[in-house]
Amino acid sequence: MKVLVINSGSSSLKYQLFDMKTQKVLAKGGCERIGAGGTITHKVPGKEDVYYEIDFPTHGEALKEVFKLLVDKEKGILTNISEIDAVGHRVAHGGEKYKASAKVTKEMIDYLESIVPINPLHGPAAIKGMRACLDLLPNTPQTATFDTSFYADFEESRYIYGLPYDCYTKDGVRRYGFHGTSHRYVSKKAAEFLNKPFESLKMITCHLGNGSSITAELNGKAVDTSMGFTPQEGILMGTRCGDIDPTVIPYIMKRRNLTPDEMSDLLNKKSGLLGVTGISNDSRNCEEAAKAGNPRAILALEILSEGIKRYIGGYTALMNGLDVLVFTAGIGENSASTRERVCKNMDYLGIKIDEEKNANFVRGIP
Ligand code: AMP
Repeated sequence: MKVLVINSGSSSLKYQLFDMKTQKVLAKGGCERIGAGGTITHKVPGKEDVYYEIDFPTHGEALKEVFKLLVDKEKGILTNISEIDAVGHRVAHGGEKYKASAKVTKEMIDYLESIVPINPLHGPAAIKGMRACLDLLPNTPQTATFDTSFYADFEESRYIYGLPYDCYTKDGVRRYGFHGTSHRYVSKKAAEFLNKPFESLKMITCHLGNGSSITAELNGKAVDTSMGFTPQEGILMGTRCGDIDPTVIPYIMKRRNLTPDEMSDLLNKKSGLLGVTGISNDSRNCEEAAKAGNPRAILALEILSEGIKRYIGGYTALMNGLDVLVFTAGIGENSASTRERVCKNMDYLGIKIDEEKNANFVRGIP
């Protein structure tokens, strides 16, 4: 069985084609700058990588180019696009309705349209990708997997904010949580690696990338997570500020005469590592600058690691203990110094970092 997995962003579309029998990736790549020019990258193991510029006005045009490459005699891997047995879409937000992966239907797309106001950044892109794929492969089964569904069983106390209750009932404001597919995957893998039932473990998974979130898993279920109504809440990220006093928002808006969109830009695109350091959203650049003694880079990395520690401490308290701490994503897997800063002075939890193993760890499972 061959399954095409699609992750649609607002101006990008990433894909991987899997052979489910061999569990191998047959092809992967991505289209960038959709709607504003365009580039495509396409890789097939054993063949030369493909990269070129091409105008993609829409996600549909981008997907057509992907299909063309997949069946190309030299660069492709399929003889006919009908060899794709199923398509899986990664969708960030399933609202309150989708608590598990589900078949893509017109009703699903209508529902996702209806929740665009609470998911303005990712919703329209996912819908465009699903529509384009349904148009081009109308007879192929398609499913959607939602980042939010890992959090579907939260206790109410974990998702209701301390706002008037009708902000939830009338406006849909609640914690939804994101990165659920990553947290679900790594928490199960960690249990498998430890050879212990997932259901028996108290775990905290730290997905530290350009966007970052921390999730607590108890008895095989997610019980709390740092991202909330949007992927803005939680720890400091590449360009997002994470937790702040909410009153800062109207204060800055009034003082600088900013519109809601401009304020949203400040919070989402100009804050985080980039905002504090004034150097970069990329943690590698911040680490380099910190090593060279740049005080704001040192400060930003401290804010990041202390924020992570604060969530670990909080979730440990909520779960009455901790058995496993997991790091994943770009920073979590690659930055030994971040793991070290986070795990330092955590002996009260029985955490003691092995400096040599930490420094020499290569991406994957130890
Ligand atoms: P992701 O969003 O998971 O792709 O992660 C992106 C983040 O991972 C960026 O901040 C990168 O700087 C960071 N990253 C990737 N490789 C490394 C590395 N070798 N050391 C430190 N940070 C890294």
